[in-house]
Amino acid sequence: MSGPFFETQHELVRKLARDFAERELAPTAQEFDETETFPAELYKLMGRAGFFGIKIPREYGGAGADTRAYALTMEELSRGNVCAGVLVSGANSLGTAPLLLVGTEEQKRKYLPEIASGESFMAFGLTEPDAGSDAGSMKMRASEDGGSYILNGTKTFITGAPFAKWITVFAKTNPAKGAKGITSFFVDMDAPGVSLGRNEHKMGQRAIPTSDVILEDVRVPKSAILGEIDKGFVTAMRTLSVGRIGVASQALGVAQNAVDLAIPYMKSRKQFGKTLSAFQGLQFMLAEMETKLNAARLLIYHAAYEMDMGRDATKAASMAKYYATEACLEIVNGALQMFGGYGYSRDYPIERLYRDARVMTIYEGTTQVQQMVISGQLLR
Ligand SMILES: Cc1cc2nc3c(=O)[nH]c(=O)nc-3n(C[C@H](O)[C@H](O)[C@H](O)COP(=O)(O)OP(=O)(O)OC[C@H]3O[C@@H](n4cnc5c(N)ncnc54)[C@H](O)[C@@H]3O)c2cc1C
Repeated sequence: MSGPFFETQHELVRKLARDFAERELAPTAQEFDETETFPAELYKLMGRAGFFGIKIPREYGGAGADTRAYALTMEELSRGNVCAGVLVSGANSLGTAPLLLVGTEEQKRKYLPEIASGESFMAFGLTEPDAGSDAGSMKMRASEDGGSYILNGTKTFITGAPFAKWITVFAKTNPAKGAKGITSFFVDMDAPGVSLGRNEHKMGQRAIPTSDVILEDVRVPKSAILGEIDKGFVTAMRTLSVGRIGVASQALGVAQNAVDLAIPYMKSRKQFGKTLSAFQGLQFMLAEMETKLNAARLLIYHAAYEMDMGRDATKAASMAKYYATEACLEIVNGALQMFGGYGYSRDYPIERLYRDARVMTIYEGTTQVQQMVISGQLLR
Protein backbone atom coordinates (compact mmCIF):
# COMPACT_ATOMS: atom_id res chain seq x y z
CA MET A 1 0.00 0.00 0.00
CA SER A 2 1.40 3.38 -0.92
CA GLY A 3 -0.29 6.72 -0.48
CA PRO A 4 -0.31 9.65 1.88
CA PHE A 5 1.60 7.91 4.66
CA PHE A 6 4.55 6.76 2.59
CA GLU A 7 7.57 7.85 0.55
CA THR A 8 9.39 5.78 -2.08
CA GLN A 9 12.09 4.74 0.39
CA HIS A 10 9.43 3.12 2.60
CA GLU A 11 8.52 0.82 -0.27
CA LEU A 12 12.20 -0.08 -0.67
CA VAL A 13 12.35 -0.96 3.02
CA ARG A 14 9.24 -3.09 2.61
CA LYS A 15 10.74 -4.89 -0.37
CA LEU A 16 13.99 -5.60 1.49
CA ALA A 17 12.11 -7.05 4.47
CA ARG A 18 9.67 -8.99 2.29
CA ASP A 19 12.43 -10.55 0.17
CA PHE A 20 14.35 -11.51 3.31
CA ALA A 21 11.25 -13.00 4.92
CA GLU A 22 10.35 -15.06 1.86
CA ARG A 23 13.91 -16.28 1.37
CA GLU A 24 15.18 -16.80 4.94
CA LEU A 25 12.25 -16.88 7.38
CA ALA A 26 9.14 -18.48 5.91
CA PRO A 27 10.81 -21.74 4.78
CA THR A 28 12.11 -22.53 8.29
CA ALA A 29 9.35 -21.11 10.52
CA GLN A 30 7.60 -24.45 10.98
CA GLU A 31 10.82 -26.31 11.78
CA PHE A 32 11.99 -23.74 14.34
CA ASP A 33 8.61 -23.88 16.07
CA GLU A 34 8.94 -27.65 16.37
CA THR A 35 12.54 -27.54 17.59
CA GLU A 36 11.99 -24.43 19.74
CA THR A 37 15.12 -22.79 18.37
CA PHE A 38 16.07 -19.61 16.58
CA PRO A 39 19.53 -20.35 15.14
CA ALA A 40 22.34 -17.91 15.94
CA GLU A 41 23.32 -17.84 12.25
CA LEU A 42 19.87 -16.59 11.28
CA TYR A 43 20.03 -13.97 14.03
CA LYS A 44 23.40 -12.81 12.66
CA LEU A 45 22.01 -12.71 9.13
CA MET A 46 19.18 -10.47 10.32
CA GLY A 47 21.78 -8.28 12.02
CA ARG A 48 23.78 -7.96 8.81
CA ALA A 49 20.60 -7.01 6.94
CA GLY A 50 20.22 -4.12 9.41
CA PHE A 51 16.88 -5.13 10.97
CA PHE A 52 17.98 -4.83 14.60
CA GLY A 53 19.07 -1.24 14.13
CA ILE A 54 16.36 -0.01 11.82
CA LYS A 55 15.22 2.67 14.28
CA ILE A 56 18.58 3.21 15.97
CA PRO A 57 20.20 6.51 14.89
CA ARG A 58 23.06 6.26 12.41
CA GLU A 59 25.64 7.67 14.84
CA TYR A 60 25.09 4.57 17.01
CA GLY A 61 25.33 2.06 14.18
CA GLY A 62 21.68 1.89 13.15
CA ALA A 63 19.79 2.83 9.99
CA GLY A 64 18.08 5.84 11.58
CA ALA A 65 14.80 5.01 9.85
CA ASP A 66 11.41 6.32 10.97
CA THR A 67 8.47 4.58 12.66
CA ARG A 68 6.75 3.87 9.34
CA ALA A 69 9.81 2.02 8.05
CA TYR A 70 9.91 0.12 11.35
CA ALA A 71 6.23 -0.85 11.09
CA LEU A 72 6.66 -2.06 7.49
CA THR A 73 9.73 -4.09 8.45
CA MET A 74 7.92 -5.69 11.37
CA GLU A 75 4.88 -6.48 9.22
CA GLU A 76 6.89 -8.17 6.48
CA LEU A 77 9.25 -10.12 8.77
CA SER A 78 6.33 -11.30 10.92
CA ARG A 79 4.55 -12.46 7.80
CA GLY A 80 7.50 -14.83 7.29
CA ASN A 81 8.00 -15.79 10.94
CA VAL A 82 6.60 -13.76 13.79
CA CYS A 83 9.49 -14.84 16.02
CA ALA A 84 11.79 -12.73 13.83
CA GLY A 85 9.42 -9.80 14.35
CA VAL A 86 9.54 -10.30 18.10
CA LEU A 87 13.35 -10.23 18.08
CA VAL A 88 13.42 -7.09 15.94
CA SER A 89 10.97 -5.41 18.28
CA GLY A 90 13.09 -6.56 21.22
CA ALA A 91 16.11 -4.80 19.75
CA ASN A 92 14.51 -1.66 18.32
CA SER A 93 11.88 -1.03 20.88
CA LEU A 94 12.11 -2.73 24.27
CA GLY A 95 15.92 -2.88 24.20
CA THR A 96 16.58 0.51 22.67
CA ALA A 97 13.73 2.88 23.43
CA PRO A 98 14.68 3.39 27.11
CA LEU A 99 18.23 4.27 26.04
CA LEU A 100 17.08 6.66 23.35
CA LEU A 101 14.55 8.25 25.66
CA VAL A 102 16.72 8.90 28.72
CA GLY A 103 20.17 7.31 28.25
CA THR A 104 23.38 9.29 28.60
CA GLU A 105 25.69 9.70 25.62
CA GLU A 106 28.12 7.26 27.23
CA GLN A 107 25.40 4.63 27.73
CA LYS A 108 24.17 5.00 24.15
CA ARG A 109 27.70 4.51 22.80
CA LYS A 110 28.24 1.50 25.04
CA TYR A 111 25.08 -0.44 24.22
CA LEU A 112 23.45 0.72 20.97
CA PRO A 113 26.06 -0.34 18.36
CA GLU A 114 26.09 -3.94 19.63
CA ILE A 115 22.28 -4.05 19.72
CA ALA A 116 22.03 -2.56 16.21
CA SER A 117 24.44 -5.07 14.68
CA GLY A 118 22.74 -8.03 16.38
CA GLU A 119 25.91 -8.87 18.27
CA SER A 120 24.10 -8.52 21.60
CA PHE A 121 20.54 -8.54 22.86
CA MET A 122 19.11 -6.29 25.57
CA ALA A 123 16.16 -7.83 27.44
CA PHE A 124 13.42 -5.76 29.09
CA GLY A 125 12.60 -6.58 32.69
CA LEU A 126 9.36 -4.99 33.85
CA THR A 127 6.86 -7.78 34.61
CA GLU A 128 7.00 -9.74 37.87
CA PRO A 129 5.07 -12.77 39.10
CA ASP A 130 2.63 -10.54 41.03
CA ALA A 131 2.90 -7.39 38.92
CA GLY A 132 1.77 -7.60 35.27
CA SER A 133 -0.78 -5.04 34.08
CA ASP A 134 -0.26 -3.28 37.40
CA ALA A 135 3.51 -3.01 36.84
CA GLY A 136 3.75 -0.16 39.35
CA SER A 137 3.14 -2.67 42.15
CA MET A 138 6.45 -4.44 41.45
CA LYS A 139 8.50 -5.77 44.36
CA MET A 140 12.00 -5.71 42.83
CA ARG A 141 14.04 -3.62 45.25
CA ALA A 142 17.14 -1.53 44.56
CA SER A 143 18.82 -0.37 47.79
CA GLU A 144 21.59 2.19 47.81
CA ASP A 145 24.82 0.92 49.33
CA GLY A 146 27.72 3.35 49.25
CA GLY A 147 28.55 4.08 45.64
CA SER A 148 26.32 1.36 44.23
CA TYR A 149 22.85 -0.25 44.33
CA ILE A 150 21.92 -3.77 45.35
CA LEU A 151 19.04 -5.38 43.45
CA ASN A 152 16.79 -8.16 44.74
CA GLY A 153 13.69 -9.66 43.12
CA THR A 154 12.32 -11.68 40.21
CA LYS A 155 11.28 -10.60 36.73
CA THR A 156 9.04 -12.96 34.84
CA PHE A 157 8.17 -13.78 31.19
CA ILE A 158 11.33 -12.05 29.95
CA THR A 159 11.66 -12.40 26.18
CA GLY A 160 15.10 -13.54 25.04
CA ALA A 161 16.53 -13.62 28.58
CA PRO A 162 18.50 -16.85 28.01
CA PHE A 163 20.59 -15.29 25.23
CA ALA A 164 20.53 -11.65 26.35
CA LYS A 165 23.82 -9.96 27.25
CA TRP A 166 22.11 -7.24 29.29
CA ILE A 167 18.72 -6.50 30.77
CA THR A 168 16.99 -3.25 31.66
CA VAL A 169 15.60 -3.88 35.16
CA PHE A 170 12.92 -1.70 36.71
CA ALA A 171 13.17 -1.66 40.51
CA LYS A 172 11.79 0.23 43.50
CA THR A 173 14.29 2.72 44.85
CA ASN A 174 11.65 4.45 46.92
CA PRO A 175 8.89 1.91 47.73
CA ALA A 176 6.82 4.39 49.76
CA LYS A 177 6.25 6.40 46.56
CA GLY A 178 4.73 3.45 44.65
CA ALA A 179 5.05 3.79 40.87
CA LYS A 180 6.77 7.14 41.44
CA GLY A 181 9.59 5.39 43.28
CA ILE A 182 10.82 3.17 40.43
CA THR A 183 14.23 3.47 38.76
CA SER A 184 15.63 1.61 35.76
CA PHE A 185 19.07 -0.03 35.76
CA PHE A 186 21.24 -1.83 33.23
CA VAL A 187 22.31 -5.21 34.52
CA ASP A 188 24.81 -7.61 32.91
CA MET A 189 23.21 -11.01 32.58
CA ASP A 190 26.43 -12.66 33.74
CA ALA A 191 26.81 -10.44 36.84
CA PRO A 192 27.13 -12.33 40.15
CA GLY A 193 23.66 -13.02 41.60
CA VAL A 194 21.79 -13.09 38.24
CA SER A 195 20.18 -16.39 37.30
CA LEU A 196 17.47 -17.68 34.96
CA GLY A 197 14.28 -19.56 35.76
CA ARG A 198 13.19 -22.42 33.55
CA ASN A 199 12.14 -21.74 29.97
CA GLU A 200 8.40 -21.11 29.82
CA HIS A 201 6.54 -23.86 27.96
CA LYS A 202 4.68 -21.54 25.69
CA MET A 203 1.70 -22.15 23.45
CA GLY A 204 3.20 -20.24 20.52
CA GLN A 205 6.18 -18.17 19.43
CA ARG A 206 8.14 -21.16 20.60
CA ALA A 207 11.33 -20.39 18.69
CA ILE A 208 12.06 -17.63 21.21
CA PRO A 209 12.99 -18.50 24.78
CA THR A 210 11.16 -16.69 27.57
CA SER A 211 12.09 -17.09 31.21
CA ASP A 212 12.27 -15.59 34.67
CA VAL A 213 15.31 -13.53 35.60
CA ILE A 214 16.17 -13.78 39.29
CA LEU A 215 18.34 -11.15 40.96
CA GLU A 216 19.87 -11.96 44.34
CA ASP A 217 22.04 -9.26 45.89
CA VAL A 218 23.15 -8.05 42.47
CA ARG A 219 25.45 -5.08 42.90
CA VAL A 220 25.43 -2.45 40.14
CA PRO A 221 27.36 0.81 39.96
CA LYS A 222 25.57 4.15 39.84
CA SER A 223 26.64 4.43 36.20
CA ALA A 224 24.17 1.60 35.52
CA ILE A 225 21.23 3.87 36.38
CA LEU A 226 19.22 4.72 33.28
CA GLY A 227 17.62 8.15 33.44
CA GLU A 228 16.75 9.80 36.71
CA ILE A 229 16.18 8.17 40.08
CA ASP A 230 12.47 7.45 40.68
CA LYS A 231 11.55 8.27 37.07
CA GLY A 232 11.81 4.73 35.68
CA PHE A 233 8.08 4.05 35.47
CA VAL A 234 7.58 6.92 33.04
CA THR A 235 10.42 5.51 30.91
CA ALA A 236 8.77 2.06 30.92
CA MET A 237 5.39 3.46 29.88
CA ARG A 238 6.89 5.61 27.12
CA THR A 239 8.85 2.58 25.86
CA LEU A 240 5.70 0.48 25.70
CA SER A 241 3.94 3.21 23.75
CA VAL A 242 6.60 2.89 21.00
CA GLY A 243 6.42 -0.90 21.27
CA ARG A 244 2.69 -1.05 20.66
CA ILE A 245 3.06 -0.11 17.01
CA GLY A 246 5.57 -2.95 16.69
CA VAL A 247 3.27 -5.55 18.24
CA ALA A 248 0.38 -4.32 16.09
CA SER A 249 2.61 -4.78 13.03
CA GLN A 250 3.52 -8.30 14.15
CA ALA A 251 -0.22 -9.07 14.27
CA LEU A 252 -0.71 -7.54 10.84
CA GLY A 253 2.02 -9.75 9.36
CA VAL A 254 0.58 -12.91 10.90
CA ALA A 255 -2.95 -12.01 9.76
CA GLN A 256 -1.74 -11.30 6.22
CA ASN A 257 0.01 -14.67 6.18
CA ALA A 258 -3.25 -16.36 7.22
CA VAL A 259 -5.21 -14.70 4.40
CA ASP A 260 -2.42 -15.56 1.93
CA LEU A 261 -2.69 -19.22 2.97
CA ALA A 262 -6.49 -19.33 2.93
CA ILE A 263 -7.01 -18.05 -0.65
CA PRO A 264 -5.18 -20.80 -2.59
CA TYR A 265 -6.65 -23.42 -0.27
CA MET A 266 -10.18 -22.15 -0.98
CA LYS A 267 -9.45 -22.33 -4.68
CA SER A 268 -8.09 -25.87 -4.62
CA ARG A 269 -10.09 -27.79 -1.98
CA LYS A 270 -13.26 -29.36 -3.36
CA GLN A 271 -16.39 -30.41 -1.48
CA PHE A 272 -19.85 -31.05 -2.91
CA GLY A 273 -18.22 -31.04 -6.36
CA LYS A 274 -17.09 -27.42 -6.06
CA THR A 275 -14.06 -25.58 -4.74
CA LEU A 276 -14.52 -23.93 -1.33
CA SER A 277 -14.13 -20.59 -3.09
CA ALA A 278 -17.55 -21.17 -4.72
CA PHE A 279 -19.38 -21.15 -1.38
CA GLN A 280 -20.79 -17.77 -0.51
CA GLY A 281 -20.59 -18.47 3.22
CA LEU A 282 -16.80 -18.69 2.93
CA GLN A 283 -16.55 -15.84 0.42
CA PHE A 284 -18.22 -13.56 2.99
CA MET A 285 -15.89 -14.80 5.71
CA LEU A 286 -12.92 -13.99 3.49
CA ALA A 287 -14.33 -10.54 2.74
CA GLU A 288 -14.67 -9.84 6.45
CA MET A 289 -11.12 -11.05 7.13
CA GLU A 290 -9.68 -8.87 4.37
CA THR A 291 -11.62 -5.82 5.56
CA LYS A 292 -10.45 -6.21 9.15
CA LEU A 293 -6.90 -6.79 7.96
CA ASN A 294 -6.88 -3.51 6.09
CA ALA A 295 -8.64 -1.59 8.86
CA ALA A 296 -5.83 -2.77 11.16
CA ARG A 297 -3.25 -1.80 8.55
CA LEU A 298 -4.60 1.75 8.32
CA LEU A 299 -4.70 2.18 12.11
CA ILE A 300 -1.06 1.07 12.32
CA TYR A 301 0.19 3.24 9.47
CA HIS A 302 -1.71 6.19 10.88
CA ALA A 303 -0.21 5.72 14.36
CA ALA A 304 3.29 5.41 12.87
CA TYR A 305 2.72 8.52 10.77
CA GLU A 306 1.55 10.52 13.79
CA MET A 307 4.66 9.43 15.68
CA ASP A 308 6.90 10.41 12.77
CA MET A 309 5.24 13.83 12.61
CA GLY A 310 6.21 14.34 16.25
CA ARG A 311 2.61 14.35 17.44
CA ASP A 312 1.34 12.54 20.55
CA ALA A 313 0.54 9.06 19.24
CA THR A 314 -0.39 7.44 22.56
CA LYS A 315 -4.05 6.87 21.72
CA ALA A 316 -3.35 6.03 18.07
CA ALA A 317 -0.74 3.40 19.06
CA SER A 318 -3.05 1.82 21.63
CA MET A 319 -5.93 1.71 19.14
CA ALA A 320 -3.64 0.09 16.58
CA LYS A 321 -2.38 -2.51 19.06
CA TYR A 322 -5.86 -3.23 20.44
CA TYR A 323 -7.55 -3.56 17.08
CA ALA A 324 -4.80 -5.29 15.10
CA THR A 325 -4.12 -7.99 17.69
CA GLU A 326 -7.82 -8.76 18.24
CA ALA A 327 -8.48 -8.70 14.47
CA CYS A 328 -5.52 -11.01 13.96
CA LEU A 329 -7.07 -13.60 16.29
CA GLU A 330 -10.34 -13.45 14.35
CA ILE A 331 -8.59 -13.62 10.97
CA VAL A 332 -6.37 -16.56 11.89
CA ASN A 333 -9.35 -18.32 13.44
CA GLY A 334 -11.35 -17.76 10.23
CA ALA A 335 -8.51 -19.06 8.08
CA LEU A 336 -8.17 -22.15 10.26
CA GLN A 337 -11.91 -22.77 9.90
CA MET A 338 -11.54 -22.70 6.12
CA PHE A 339 -8.86 -25.38 6.32
CA GLY A 340 -11.29 -27.61 8.23
CA GLY A 341 -9.63 -30.54 9.99
CA TYR A 342 -6.34 -29.87 8.20
CA GLY A 343 -6.20 -26.48 9.88
CA TYR A 344 -6.00 -28.30 13.18
CA SER A 345 -3.09 -30.43 12.03
CA ARG A 346 0.49 -29.53 12.85
CA ASP A 347 1.33 -30.41 9.24
CA TYR A 348 -0.27 -27.15 8.11
CA PRO A 349 1.18 -23.76 9.10
CA ILE A 350 -2.19 -22.26 10.00
CA GLU A 351 -2.14 -24.19 13.29
CA ARG A 352 1.14 -22.45 14.22
CA LEU A 353 -0.18 -19.03 13.26
CA TYR A 354 -3.18 -19.62 15.52
CA ARG A 355 -0.86 -20.35 18.46
CA ASP A 356 1.59 -17.56 17.58
CA ALA A 357 -1.17 -14.97 17.40
CA ARG A 358 -2.74 -15.70 20.75
CA VAL A 359 -0.22 -13.91 22.95
CA MET A 360 -0.34 -10.65 21.04
CA THR A 361 -3.46 -9.42 22.85
CA ILE A 362 -1.55 -10.03 26.10
CA TYR A 363 2.07 -8.83 25.95
CA GLU A 364 3.16 -5.20 25.91
CA GLY A 365 -0.16 -4.28 27.51
CA THR A 366 -3.26 -6.48 27.29
CA THR A 367 -6.33 -5.53 25.28
CA GLN A 368 -7.95 -4.28 28.47
CA VAL A 369 -4.91 -2.11 29.25
CA GLN A 370 -5.10 -0.61 25.73
CA GLN A 371 -8.79 0.11 26.33
CA MET A 372 -7.82 1.83 29.59
CA VAL A 373 -5.27 3.98 27.72
CA ILE A 374 -7.72 4.89 24.93
CA SER A 375 -10.60 5.80 27.25
CA GLY A 376 -8.18 7.50 29.63
CA GLN A 377 -7.05 9.78 26.81
CA LEU A 378 -10.65 10.61 25.92
CA LEU A 379 -11.78 11.26 29.48
CA ARG A 380 -8.82 13.18 30.86
C1 LIG B 1 5.38 -14.59 25.60
C2 LIG B 1 5.46 -13.42 26.53
C3 LIG B 1 6.55 -12.56 26.46
C4 LIG B 1 6.65 -11.50 27.35
N1 LIG B 1 7.78 -10.70 27.32
C5 LIG B 1 7.97 -9.78 28.30
C6 LIG B 1 9.20 -9.07 28.40
O1 LIG B 1 10.12 -9.25 27.58
N2 LIG B 1 9.36 -8.20 29.43
C7 LIG B 1 8.39 -7.97 30.35
O2 LIG B 1 8.61 -7.15 31.25
N3 LIG B 1 7.20 -8.62 30.28
C8 LIG B 1 6.98 -9.53 29.30
N4 LIG B 1 5.80 -10.24 29.23
C9 LIG B 1 4.77 -10.01 30.25
C10 LIG B 1 3.49 -9.36 29.72
O3 LIG B 1 3.74 -8.03 29.38
C11 LIG B 1 2.40 -9.56 30.76
O4 LIG B 1 2.02 -10.93 30.72
C12 LIG B 1 1.19 -8.67 30.55
O5 LIG B 1 1.52 -7.33 30.79
C13 LIG B 1 0.00 -9.05 31.41
O6 LIG B 1 0.35 -9.22 32.74
P1 LIG B 1 -0.08 -10.55 33.52
O7 LIG B 1 0.29 -11.70 32.68
O8 LIG B 1 0.44 -10.48 34.90
O9 LIG B 1 -1.69 -10.49 33.57
P2 LIG B 1 -2.56 -9.70 34.64
O10 LIG B 1 -2.11 -8.30 34.78
O11 LIG B 1 -2.68 -10.51 35.87
O12 LIG B 1 -3.98 -9.66 33.91
C14 LIG B 1 -4.89 -10.78 33.90
C15 LIG B 1 -6.14 -10.35 33.16
O13 LIG B 1 -6.79 -9.29 33.87
C16 LIG B 1 -6.97 -8.17 33.01
N5 LIG B 1 -6.84 -6.95 33.81
C17 LIG B 1 -5.82 -6.58 34.64
N6 LIG B 1 -6.07 -5.39 35.18
C18 LIG B 1 -7.27 -4.97 34.69
C19 LIG B 1 -8.07 -3.79 34.87
N7 LIG B 1 -7.71 -2.77 35.65
N8 LIG B 1 -9.25 -3.72 34.20
C20 LIG B 1 -9.65 -4.74 33.37
N9 LIG B 1 -8.94 -5.86 33.17
C21 LIG B 1 -7.75 -5.97 33.82
C22 LIG B 1 -5.88 -8.30 31.97
O14 LIG B 1 -6.21 -7.57 30.80
C23 LIG B 1 -5.86 -9.79 31.76
O15 LIG B 1 -6.89 -10.15 30.89
C24 LIG B 1 5.64 -11.28 28.31
C25 LIG B 1 4.53 -12.14 28.37
C26 LIG B 1 4.45 -13.21 27.51
C27 LIG B 1 3.26 -14.14 27.62
